[in-house]
Amino acid sequence: MGQTMKPFDVYPVFDINIVKGERCSVWDDKGTKYMDLYGGHAVISVGHSHPSFIDALTKQAGKLAFYSNSVKNELQQELAERLGRMSQYEDYKLFLVNSGAEANENALKLASFYNRRTRVIAFKNAFHGRTSLTVEATDNPKIIAPINQNGHVTYLPLNDTESLVRELSKGDVCAVIIEGIQGIGGIQLPTSQFMQILQQECNKTDTILILDEIQSGYGRSGKFFAHQYDGIRPDLITVAKGIANGFPMGAVLISPQFTSIYGQLGTTFGGNHLACAAAISVLDIMEKEELVVNAKQVGDFLIDELRKMPYIKEVRGRGLMIGLEFDVAVREIRQRLLFEQKVFTGVAGNNVIRILPPLCLTMDEAQEFLSRLSAILHITI
Ligand SMILES: *Cc1c(COP(=O)(O)O)cnc(C)c1O
Repeated sequence: MGQTMKPFDVYPVFDINIVKGERCSVWDDKGTKYMDLYGGHAVISVGHSHPSFIDALTKQAGKLAFYSNSVKNELQQELAERLGRMSQYEDYKLFLVNSGAEANENALKLASFYNRRTRVIAFKNAFHGRTSLTVEATDNPKIIAPINQNGHVTYLPLNDTESLVRELSKGDVCAVIIEGIQGIGGIQLPTSQFMQILQQECNKTDTILILDEIQSGYGRSGKFFAHQYDGIRPDLITVAKGIANGFPMGAVLISPQFTSIYGQLGTTFGGNHLACAAAISVLDIMEKEELVVNAKQVGDFLIDELRKMPYIKEVRGRGLMIGLEFDVAVREIRQRLLFEQKVFTGVAGNNVIRILPPLCLTMDEAQEFLSRLSAILHITI
């Protein structure tokens, strides 16, 4: 009697009801405007409510929202062509899914189908998702259920070539999975030297190299993929978050050495017409507005300015993926930024603030953020 169904209480939510967005701003139901330096968790790539994005989605919804993967879908072909060209991976193939975890899960499966091995190397503080294999490759015991503890994964320290070479030389590793830049791990960058040795050792031992670019990819780092700073070409690259500006979608970019066998992979919703229309529109906007270049320019400016600010222990990142590490817990800083300065930011662990705005952030907005942050730091620390 008198009961109503409620959402399962899995997130400690802020009591703010966001109802509207435009570019790098969002509004709550009381009309208060917030700067979105969090991009709805690195998902909003081309900005909230972009007119061309709305147009592409509504046009496609009016034609055909979904039909099964049992028929040809020209939108998938168009998306693959554009993504190949913009990312400079024209010779790769594209498999479309619905989320980041699903992209990584499929990448790990592809690797295991390929070399028939079962051991995976991941890195300390990595996050790869919440499906059974990807959560096992995530270095966070709190979120790994007993059913996911299957002993497939060894975690190595990031940037430690010695342990990497030692493990790979055993010749029994199926895949190494690594983030282009660690996100939830606190915006930690692999060094170029480490990435190059990683690629070289994987080649030597027939180990598949999987680059998880779900957070660091799609232009966020100031290059299309973060690993493109390191001059490597992984066997499999996974993307999601920014790919369709909020429409759920994920993908695996697959190098030519893989052959597809009917029935091995599949999905009901993956690559559906609406998702493809959204993703094509994202690439279109990114290209026209040169958002990758913008991410680099505005990101470089922000990183430089943040490094000059007092109280911040370290500033790490590339492009518009920036971590601010403090000596103190950042909970109060984040709350004050949100409630007093009306700025959304993310966190990683206890003492890192994560900046992940839409890639269309302007210099003026970056400047405005710096002054709001400065105001908070002066009174908080
Ligand atoms: C968000 C994220 C994932 C998981 O993506 P979902 O869409 O939540 O499944 C995996 N890897 C990285 C690096 C991420 O940031």
